[in-house]
Amino acid sequence: MPFTEKRITTSAGSSVFRRHTKPQEFVCDRDLLPRTAKIVVRWTTPEGTERTICNSCYGFLMSQP
Ligand SMILES: [Zn+2]
Repeated sequence: MPFTEKRITTSAGSSVFRRHTKPQEFVCDRDLLPRTAKIVVRWTTPEGTERTICNSCYGFLMSQP
């Protein structure tokens, strides 16, 4: 597997956290910053919208109750 994965669900929606073996280039859909990182998170909002977000947005979202 090129990545390891874990799923978390909070009031902010559900997230699939992936740690890749190589850095990935992407734009975070929450803070809109271009990123190069091994950690890429797929976030499904409570409304059901799928977003790609960075590790710091993931940390913020998962700290919600
Ligand atoms: Zn972000």
